[in-house]
Amino acid sequence: MSVLKALLAGLTGGTIEVVDLTAPLAASTPILQLPPPFANTIPFGLTEISRYDDRGPAWYWNDIHTGEHTGTHFDAPVHWVTGRDGEDVSQVPPRKLVAPAVVVDVTDRVGEDPDFLLEVEHIREWEAVHGPLPEGGWLLLRTGWDARSSDQAEFLNADETGPHTPGVSVAAAKWLAEESPVIGIGVETVGTDAGAAHSFDPAFPCHSYLLGAGKYGLTQLRNLDRLPATGAVVIAPPLPIAGGSGSPVRVLALVEK
Ligand code: MN
Repeated sequence: MSVLKALLAGLTGGTIEVVDLTAPLAASTPILQLPPPFANTIPFGLTEISRYDDRGPAWYWNDIHTGEHTGTHFDAPVHWVTGRDGEDVSQVPPRKLVAPAVVVDVTDRVGEDPDFLLEVEHIREWEAVHGPLPEGGWLLLRTGWDARSSDQAEFLNADETGPHTPGVSVAAAKWLAEESPVIGIGVETVGTDAGAAHSFDPAFPCHSYLLGAGKYGLTQLRNLDRLPATGAVVIAPPLPIAGGSGSPVRVLALVEK
């Protein structure tokens, strides 16, 4: 049997499951909130054009209003100043948008410490059990944070000292960017960096190192608990916004049962 026929047979027969890792897009979808003096993105919104009425008797359609970095979305290299000469979101090669993915689960640690940071040693511990990170694949960081995604305040988890959400240490971000074989990192939080990453050196190390290395980010993922530690295939195609820095993305995972 050809490989594609085998894939279709698996989908039809139920031995391959399609898991949706995407948060729904709505006005209530949590978005990043930067402090002054920085500019912010808008919430997702719909403006009705017509709905089977005088404005269009047989059809329903809307205009959408969104930022590039709203909900489950893709960060392109050009999003960060370190990647300013890199790919915009329309230039990411399609071949890279279908890739293996592994899940590093740190939910227990995040339960005790919302500011938990993934370190290189945690990845090494994971590799000792599951094998090396996948060449050209995604490291998906499972933190349990998706359970908060229906509430902006709980999701951003900010107090007077700023947001408290899990992420990646400076050393681990540099290692993932410069030494690991992955094409990017996917997270359940509002951005790939930890809530406190504004205070790191460099600030926002995931953005700074990974996008600077021509790698990518995926954010606000959910259902990572339905993926195996290794073996999933992720399809994550952003909209080809010409010159864009990112895009909302429907992220699907193929999982062999
Ligand atoms: Mn982003």
